[in-house]
Amino acid sequence: MLYQYHCACCEKVVTSNQKACHECGSQNIRTPYGFWLFCILACLIAAITFKLVHVYLKDHQSVPVQQSFLDSLNQSNKNTH
Ligand SMILES: [Zn+2]
Repeated sequence: MLYQYHCACCEKVVTSNQKACHECGSQNIRTPYGFWLFCILACLIAAITFKLVHVYLKDHQSVPVQQSFLDSLNQSNKNTH
């Protein structure tokens, strides 16, 4: 279904060699490649966003997290002794 051409007006399936929709006569045929292009772009944007967030969190939280981890270790040592 995703590999098929569709009419942009009535959503009817159109063969790839057809220049116009046989239902409504519209020449506005949607290619299946637009969908995959959108998918790939969306995946790329998601991956880049994830990477940026990961780098941002690593830069801004690594030191405080380590400190708080050490603090909690010291606190637990104090509590046990
Ligand atoms: Zn149509």
